[in-house]
Amino acid sequence: MLLIDYVGNTPLVRLDRIARGRVPSGVEIWAKLEWFNPGGSIKDRAARAIILAAERAGIPEGARLLDASSGNTGIAYGMLCAARGHRLTLCIPSYANDERKHLVRAYGVELIETDAREGSDGAIRRAQALAAAHPDRFVYLDQYSNPANPGAHEHGTALEIWSQTAGRVTHFVAGLGTSGTFVGTSRGLRAKNAHIQCVSVQPTGPGHGLEGLKHMATAIVPKIYDPTIANADLAAPSAASFELLRALAKEEGILAGFSSGAALWGAIEVARTLTAGVVVTVFPDSGERYVSQASQTAMGSLC
Ligand code: PMP
Repeated sequence: MLLIDYVGNTPLVRLDRIARGRVPSGVEIWAKLEWFNPGGSIKDRAARAIILAAERAGIPEGARLLDASSGNTGIAYGMLCAARGHRLTLCIPSYANDERKHLVRAYGVELIETDAREGSDGAIRRAQALAAAHPDRFVYLDQYSNPANPGAHEHGTALEIWSQTAGRVTHFVAGLGTSGTFVGTSRGLRAKNAHIQCVSVQPTGPGHGLEGLKHMATAIVPKIYDPTIANADLAAPSAASFELLRALAKEEGILAGFSSGAALWGAIEVARTLTAGVVVTVFPDSGERYVSQASQTAMGSLC
C-alpha cells in the first residue's frame, strides 16, 4: 500500500459519556475521528481527490499546483504532493500559526503569505490572481469550487458512516468550511436513505475562533456550497463549543480541535429534540494541532 491509500476509513466512536445526561437516553451520538488520516485531518480526503482529479486532467510539465488554505488543506496537499512528486504553491494568511507554516514548509511547499487583515478570503483572492496572471505556470486546484472536494465525501465519508452504523444513521451533523464535508456526505447518505436528516453548523458571526469554519453571510461563499441540502442550519456559539471540547477531553478522552466543538454542539442540539435516533458527526482534526494557540484563546485550560 502507498501512503495515499491510507486516507479515509477513520474510526467512528460512540460518545456515550458525553450523551449521558445531555440528551435523551434513546439517542446515540457518534463521531468520526478524522485525525486518524495520515496528514492529521479530514482535509486529506479532499486533497487526495482533488490531486488525483488534476492528474487525470493532466498536469503540464513544469507547472506547479496552486491553492489557498489557512491550515489543514495545506498540510494535506503538502503531504500528498510530496508523495506524488508534484510541486505546490500555497497562499496562506500571515496569521496562520507558526506550527502550520513549519509543517507545510517541511513538505517542501512554497508559501505565499497574505495580509492578515484580509483573512482567509485574502489568500483566496491572491491564489485567484496568480492563477489568472500565469495560467501556464499554475494548475489552480480551487478547493472551494472543485467538485472533487464534495465528491471525496459523497463516495468516501458517507459510505463509511453508512457501513459503520450498519445503515442505522438517522441524522448527520457537520460544520461548514468549504462545505465539502457537509455537502458531499449528505448527498452520499441521502442516496442510501432519503430520510436521513442533514444539519449544517456555522459560527454565529465573523471572528469566531472556530478555525476551519466559515460564517457564510460574511465570507466568500464557496461555489460547491448548496444550502438547500440542509434540513436545518445551526449557529454554534464559540464559548459553548469550547466548553464542550473541554468536556470531550475530560469525559471521553478525546482531544479534538476547535471546529469539533461546534460539530459536537450541533449534534447535541439535534439529539435533544429526539426521543430515539443515531446522530453522526465528524471531528475534523485533533486538539494537538492547536496547543500553542489554545493558551491564547477561550480554550485556555484545554491543554
Ligand atoms: N474543521 C477544520 C479544522 C477544517 O480544517 C475544515 C476545513 N476548512 C473544516 C472543519 C470544514 O471542512 P469542509 O471544508 O469540508 O467544510
